[in-house]
Amino acid sequence: MKKGKKLYEGKAKIIYATSDKNLVIQYFKDDATAFNNLKKSTIEGKGVLNNRISEHILSNLTQIGIKNHLVKRLNMREQIIKLVEIIPIEFIVRNVATGSITKRLGIEDGTVLNQPLLEYCLKDDNLGDPLIAEEHILAFDWATKSELEKVKKMILRINDFMIGMFRGVGIKLIDFKLEFGRLKENGKNEVILADEISPDTCRLWDSITDKKLDKDRFRKNLGDLIPAYTEVAKRLGILHEQLNLSAVNVTKLRSVKKRK
Ligand code: UDP
Repeated sequence: MKKGKKLYEGKAKIIYATSDKNLVIQYFKDDATAFNNLKKSTIEGKGVLNNRISEHILSNLTQIGIKNHLVKRLNMREQIIKLVEIIPIEFIVRNVATGSITKRLGIEDGTVLNQPLLEYCLKDDNLGDPLIAEEHILAFDWATKSELEKVKKMILRINDFMIGMFRGVGIKLIDFKLEFGRLKENGKNEVILADEISPDTCRLWDSITDKKLDKDRFRKNLGDLIPAYTEVAKRLGILHEQLNLSAVNVTKLRSVKKRK
């Protein structure tokens, strides 16, 4: 499959066209941003780890019948995905209150919720991804009632599956963000899971020590982001050795050369 022109560049990923109009390549960058782009940095190796972790989680979700955009991982930084029309909503799932909700509602950090809480944010960087209600989604046609019902069912199953998967390796799934997209296949319109699921988009705490193993290490200047993401990958059984960053760089240089 041939890699085509760049279609879109986001904060942490780039999307390239391919020779198949239904498929695109998702490239994981090392860039990290937080607080609506106010804090920025490049953390060598982050993209490689997110590519692997997201591939692992999405393929496991496929196994339990959650349709998603992943076709296959191509290399250290790229995967082939189905081209979808992204629904402009960030679906935030919370099992434990931390981050923005604690400030917004004055809830004590670490409060365990009786049941998963689903929040909706409009995907709009200029507006700072504002929190919205289901009524806004319907009023402004960001998604239909039937799409929302399907998405909500999928989200509960994804959350249950991921809580169990992480619990099995000594990690608490505190909260995470999901995105969904519309897929036209065989004349049918379907809503499927899209984007990525990784320590960039989840909060993951060690079950015993509550050590943060996610992007909060960057947001809160805790350092050691790569060791934390590596720990997640190792516990999930998808990485058996320390990531060889010099090898990553060689791959990066090679792929840059090839593209020229
Ligand atoms: N999240 C994300 N992208 C966003 C906003 C949130 O992946 O643009 C994830 C974040 O990593 C966390 C969860 O969604 O796992 C809830 O984030 P919160 O609203 O607390 O965001 P904060 O403002 O604290 O980063």
